[in-house]
Formats: sequence, structure tokens, C-alpha cells
Amino acid sequence: MKLIKLFLHLIWIILLTLFTQVGGVIWIVTQLLSKFLKWKKSYTFITFYLVCNLLIIPPLAKQFGREQLPIFNANLKPRNAFYPLLFRNYVTPELKKMLLNSSEALIKDNIRITYLDANFPFYNGFPLLPHRSHNDGKKIDISFSYKTKNGKITDKKPAVSGYGIYVQDDNYSSNNCVEKGYWQYNFPKYLTLGKINNLQFDTNSTAKIISTFLKQTETEKIFIEPYLKNKLGFSNYGKVRFQGCKAVRHDDHIHLQIK
Ligand SMILES: [Zn+2]
Repeated sequence: MKLIKLFLHLIWIILLTLFTQVGGVIWIVTQLLSKFLKWKKSYTFITFYLVCNLLIIPPLAKQFGREQLPIFNANLKPRNAFYPLLFRNYVTPELKKMLLNSSEALIKDNIRITYLDANFPFYNGFPLLPHRSHNDGKKIDISFSYKTKNGKITDKKPAVSGYGIYVQDDNYSSNNCVEKGYWQYNFPKYLTLGKINNLQFDTNSTAKIISTFLKQTETEKIFIEPYLKNKLGFSNYGKVRFQGCKAVRHDDHIHLQIK
């Protein structure tokens, strides 16, 4: 019985570590803390997790070169509360500054930046799965811009998670990645967590977001599907690239990385 309990603890610690990086450690400390405080384990965990999320980890991560992105800034915000709650919105100070500058530059066009997965708070080389490259604070996924049926620009997005609703239909695959055997290529379609808004892809504003990023000297690469690269008018821009078949499709979000 004890062994099964230990095994379940271990699985839970691994899951927390995979999804939040620091959650596993928070769980381990909770075991000691709940004994010390004589609190129920579940209450202790929730309280201590929130204290870590809001008060302890942000300044600690700063010491190690990562900063949390704004949560309540209207011009640069997460797709939903889970990104900051799961510690998935940490970047280098340079990327944070670059995103803030970009978001300010876009105000005049009435465009706001919505971010998705960035990086975890600590340690270069620790990937934020399922994105293998989001492991050094220099990468972030950004939502496309959309408009309503009436053609009005909106902050709303078609997927709850921000991933998996493609501009072209499910079966499209540039360079035939799926036929070449890269089964994971279309995988984000299972990661929408639900489709909530019926919106149209906004070519104009999405192109403005990308060109604002390109104007920042820090920008190294931007990944989008080749057909979108042409459609948005970036055919002659070397920094806007196809991510390759080993990654996933990039016609549901923009991947941005800095030098
Ligand atoms: Zn990415």
C-alpha cells in the first residue's frame, strides 16, 4: 500500500515538473510544510503554489536571468490565466523588452499582442513541452490577429488554448510533412481545448504584428507556414521561415525567437 502511494506521488511529481517545471518541487515542500503548519495537504499545496507563483518565483527567476511577462497589461497579455499559472510565461529581459516595445508600437493600429507558451522560469536546456526549442528564454508563441464576421478587429481567438485552429483546413500540409511520415505535424489540432469563437483570420493585422517584430533588432527568426509567408507579404524576408517538418504546423500561431 505504501509503495503504491509512493509511486503515485512520483507520477504526480513528474507530471507537475513536465507541465510547470517548479510544481514538483512545490509538491515536495508541501509535504513538509503541511506537517509543520498542521494544515490539510490540499490547502497547503494550493496556498503555497499560489504564493510561489505570485511572490516567490518571479523575483527568484529574475536573479537567474528570466522575467515573467505581464499578465494584466492590456496590450501584451496571455491567452488565458493558465499560461502564468503554470509558470509558462518567462522570457529573457531582452525578449520582454522587445515584446513591450512591439506592443506599444501596435497601439496606433488598435492591435494587441496575445502570447501563448514562452519558457519556464529556470535553467537553459529545460524544454517547455511540447515545444522542444522553448528552453532558453528566447522563444515565444504569439497568437494571430482575428476579426469578427462584420470585419471588426478583435482580441478574441478561435481556440481556448490559442493553438490548433488552422488558417487552412486540417488536411493541408505544406511540403507534405504528414505524408513524409511526420505524424506530429498536425498534432496541435488536438490541443485547442475547445473552439469558442467563430472568427476570421485577419491578414492585415497579423502582417502588422510580424513586421513590427521584424523592425526590432533583437529578432532572429519567425516561423510561419510558407503559404502564409507569401499571403502576408513576407516572401523576401529571410527572417520569416518555414519551421521544417520536425516541428508542428505554424498556421495557427507565430513562433518568435530572438538572438
Ligand atoms: Zn514556438
